[in-house]
Amino acid sequence: MRDLSCVLSGYCCTVAPCPYGEAGQDGVCIYLAQPNNAGQRKCQKYPEIVKAERNASSPMMGSGCSSTLFNTMRETVLANKRRRP
Ligand code: SF4
Repeated sequence: MRDLSCVLSGYCCTVAPCPYGEAGQDGVCIYLAQPNNAGQRKCQKYPEIVKAERNASSPMMGSGCSSTLFNTMRETVLANKRRRP
């Protein structure tokens, strides 16, 4: 079975910003941080979003990836984690 857990690749935020985000001129959310050494990109609005969604039945943060196929950003993070666990 395919692992759908979130690896913080930031891919979804480069394709279509969530309701809390805002697309820059290149379409990437302006709140998406630069990648770390593993290729992970964190949301700079994470605390605000978690607080706003604390009573939601399906909080959006950490719900996992719905775009695993052909997602090279996700594959890069997973490959880096295998090399440097
Ligand atoms: S606000 Fe955060 S979670 Fe939403 S699209 Fe932007 S970076 Fe991603």
